[in-house]
Amino acid sequence: MRAALFEAPGQPLVIGEVEAPEPQPTDLLVQVKSCGICGSDLHLAALSDRSSGMAPLRQGAIMGHEFCGEVVEVGGQAPGHWHEGDRVCALPYISCGQCLDCLSGRGHRCRQVVNTGMGHAEGPQGGYADYVRVGGAEALALPPGVDYQAGGLVEPLAVGLHAVRTAGLAVGDGVLIIGAGPIGLAVALWCRFFGARHVVISDLSAGRLAKAAALGATDGIDASREDVVNRYKQIAGRRAEVVFDCVGIAGSQQLAMDYAPVNGRLVIAGLCMSADSIMPVKAVSKELSVKYSYMYERRDFELTLEMLDRGRIDPSPMITGVVGFDDFSAAFEGLKSPTGQCKILLDPAI
Ligand SMILES: [Zn+2]
Ligand SMILES: [Zn+2]
Repeated sequence: MRAALFEAPGQPLVIGEVEAPEPQPTDLLVQVKSCGICGSDLHLAALSDRSSGMAPLRQGAIMGHEFCGEVVEVGGQAPGHWHEGDRVCALPYISCGQCLDCLSGRGHRCRQVVNTGMGHAEGPQGGYADYVRVGGAEALALPPGVDYQAGGLVEPLAVGLHAVRTAGLAVGDGVLIIGAGPIGLAVALWCRFFGARHVVISDLSAGRLAKAAALGATDGIDASREDVVNRYKQIAGRRAEVVFDCVGIAGSQQLAMDYAPVNGRLVIAGLCMSADSIMPVKAVSKELSVKYSYMYERRDFELTLEMLDRGRIDPSPMITGVVGFDDFSAAFEGLKSPTGQCKILLDPAI
């Protein structure tokens, strides 16, 4: 099969031919129909040491954890009622399926979990490929109203949904989202969905802000030329009750603290992989509640799929490009520098 192979940190991915994955008895083999490029893959491909706590990729690793596709093989002991031809997406890991974490939909906390597309020797290769191996227990059916492009957005939408759940958003809250990348946009979509009064998103790119309006943001702030706190107060009459850090670079957590009001709630959803420093007194003196949000639970995937199926959310404006293998490596490289692009999907059939 074809796959986008990791060569070395900072080097472009190489499209090559490799053996298709061998499904285990409890697995499904899925023909990839779409797979989104994730910002965390860009970080991962740049790692050269373990200082971030994450292992660098090994040569030949295949990333890609935002995939969906068609079942082409069902393992003899695969849990669930899967058949060839079923349309599925999947939680991007395989876990034991029996411990308390697994049974409560938090398989990523399972002690035996192996992650998909993270380059771990023991974990499945990812979806930047023609085929991917998924656990029968981790697969979720795509309902009829969810096409393969939307199916490729379920994972980042679930990340956003989990962050909004973490915030304990209340109807009528004013929200400020720092960063209009895919996760910031997914957070905006769900804040609107759950009844926030103001969904304001700040970014340094005017192009990204234009996109935010199509996904539910009520206002955008161009942080390259506007004072974020003053502009937010102009819009809403006061500071935001909830501030989301959806950037995850050194300094962004401090920005969230600076933007928040007394007793404000912060949710840190960006994955900062470098050392960062904050000025704790700013958070202490405001008595901020700071929470961190990571990944999602199974129910986040389920609600996302159901709301997509019923047409109650429309994330399609997030997609700014769909490429085949021929253009995939260049598209991946292009996302390494600041860009107006949002979510680019691999479609192996192109
Ligand atoms: Zn992702
Ligand atoms: Zn488990």
